[in-house]
Amino acid sequence: MIPHIGVLALQGGVSEHIDMLSTLSCTTVCVRTPQDLQGISALIIPGGESTALIRLLVRWNLVSPVKKLADAGIPVWGTCAGSILLSSEITEKNHKVRQPSLDLAPVRSERNSFGRQSASFQEDLIIKGLDEPFPGVFIRAPLLFPLSSNCDILCSVNEGAVFIRHENIWLSSFHPELTGDSRVHQMFIEEAVIGS
Ligand code: GLN
Repeated sequence: MIPHIGVLALQGGVSEHIDMLSTLSCTTVCVRTPQDLQGISALIIPGGESTALIRLLVRWNLVSPVKKLADAGIPVWGTCAGSILLSSEITEKNHKVRQPSLDLAPVRSERNSFGRQSASFQEDLIIKGLDEPFPGVFIRAPLLFPLSSNCDILCSVNEGAVFIRHENIWLSSFHPELTGDSRVHQMFIEEAVIGS
């Protein structure tokens, strides 16, 4: 079976994910309406601006269909702002912010934890399941705090976790779609196939 991967296409780094997926063995669909979710093997929520993304998800009636999909066990992966949306708790430097989320994984994400856009950086990451270091691109990235022992930390930097998997929900605070390296996408696709 060739996996059919949906990319939430309301705002943010949509085309970068689609371009990377197009180099792999899968088909893709840009998800803008609940109908677009039909038949997908997995969903990617890209980076962008989490406050804008959650508003758009509400406006396009996607909150409950996406939650249902995740509850049915379909793999969902959020990169950067996407990972913030999947978290059960959102903070900014230790204070709670009044920002709704999809609440799909027991993770607290601390928004903009590494500083502003100008403090963006790239760091070689050791990721569980990959043999060689992966180029991690961080842009106003969150730090991820697991809130359950069922969270599998796939990668950490000095400050803490940046890649967590909780059952079928994947959260990465960095942007694999902005590199020329498709190994994390490949890992996710393999999981989507195995998990289906
Ligand atoms: N800081 C942004 C937010 O809170 C995320 C940035 C990104 O996705 N690169 O939504």
